[in-house]
Amino acid sequence: MIFTRTIWDTIEPYFLKKEAWGEPDKISGFLLLILHDIRLRSSWPMIIHCGTQGKHCKGSYHYKGLAVDFHFKPPNNSISFRDQAKFLMQYLIDMQFSNFTGLGIYPEWKHPGFHLDCRESKARWLKQNGEYVGINRF
Ligand SMILES: [Zn+2]
Repeated sequence: MIFTRTIWDTIEPYFLKKEAWGEPDKISGFLLLILHDIRLRSSWPMIIHCGTQGKHCKGSYHYKGLAVDFHFKPPNNSISFRDQAKFLMQYLIDMQFSNFTGLGIYPEWKHPGFHLDCRESKARWLKQNGEYVGINRF
């Protein structure tokens, strides 16, 4: 048997290339698989804000195709943002992704959401009142 499905075939219909990824072919397949798994387990639709495009800090994982910003859109806003953040943090622990991921929590975005990236270490942060603080403040 020859494996001919691409990552994009694998993660449709939940994620499509035409969404706001910037350059979708540059996005890490590992990151896309994680996003897909989060989508399946949470059952919450996910709206992609950006992948490789947009303005980020110098050397950002975004430019390497290793980071995505998004928000969840649970039906009827039935899940609080705090519970969404808790779900994500617990998910990363349960799946043993903790030490290889960066997770940023952004409650003050127009659509409160998250930054998720693949990296060689663990990073967690919260942006509140325009400042980056530890997630224990959340
Ligand atoms: Zn980001």
